[in-house]
Amino acid sequence: MNYFSNAFLSLRQWWDADYVPPGAEPGADTGEDCFDFSRFVPYLFLHAGCLLVLWVGWSWFAVATAVGLYQVRMFAITAFYHRYFSHRAFHTSRGWQFVFAVIANTSMQRGPLWWASTHRHHHHHSDQETDKHSPVQRGFLWSHIGWLTSRKNFPTDYRKVKDFAAYPELVYLNRHDFLVPILFGAALWLFGWALQTWAPALGTNGPQLFVWGFFISTVVLLHGTLFINSLAHMAGSRRFHTTDDSRNNFWLALLTLGEGWHNNHHRFSHCARQGFYWYEVDCTWYILKIMARLGLIWDLRGVPAHIYEEARTQTLNQKA
Ligand SMILES: [Zn+2]
Ligand SMILES: [Zn+2]
Repeated sequence: MNYFSNAFLSLRQWWDADYVPPGAEPGADTGEDCFDFSRFVPYLFLHAGCLLVLWVGWSWFAVATAVGLYQVRMFAITAFYHRYFSHRAFHTSRGWQFVFAVIANTSMQRGPLWWASTHRHHHHHSDQETDKHSPVQRGFLWSHIGWLTSRKNFPTDYRKVKDFAAYPELVYLNRHDFLVPILFGAALWLFGWALQTWAPALGTNGPQLFVWGFFISTVVLLHGTLFINSLAHMAGSRRFHTTDDSRNNFWLALLTLGEGWHNNHHRFSHCARQGFYWYEVDCTWYILKIMARLGLIWDLRGVPAHIYEEARTQTLNQKA
């Protein structure tokens, strides 16, 4: 495929991620497994947008908005895109699954079905040659961001997410995965403008809230999530002898609300808890427990006794 037809295809797929050129099979790989500049453009745009901070400046309100939106959206990614849509670690209503899919979708990490199908693939092929983002196979940079631009990794493999592909509203979000981020950015701009007009004491305005709430917050959130694919397979300790190189890493767990306990997670991915002990900070788990108390979610899956037993014997063996 030449450069121009590739760029045209990317443009077309920004609106409809399921679009395939005439004659191609739906969901089929549309290119080689290598870095693709036209697919990198949205991420370049996100990073370049952060530089606008030199123009819009800052205010306490804008910074607090960026931090708050980081936390809320990191929770939506870890609790829902990951523990719910990818691993079915708890149950919830159709309404709540949609609400959290929309919140997570503002993160520019594509739609819920693409995210879950890609992640299910990761667990089946972790650190093997077929893993889409293994630092063991292709180094840090590829596992962190390179893989995300590869045309081979672009289509959603609906066969892997038949359970959630039964909901048309999720399929719609997944196909038009730029729609929610655009609306989110516009809403932030409008909110900033309204505050400037009606609450000038806050010292913020439309462009400033847009830059902090959309660009800066989203870029930090993106790298926080991507570190789990890259660093959490490189740096940290290993409690379980899994077939991959997954690690437990306290700092990554803090940054990602609990996802840093990645070796625990690769050993037993079906539970909603990733910090297996009280001292393994897992904020997503704490919030999920509160949501279960409130009746918003149910059937929260914890760590089974045989996994704790395995952890105990492996720790004893490591000490011996
Ligand atoms: Zn992993
Ligand atoms: Zn997982």
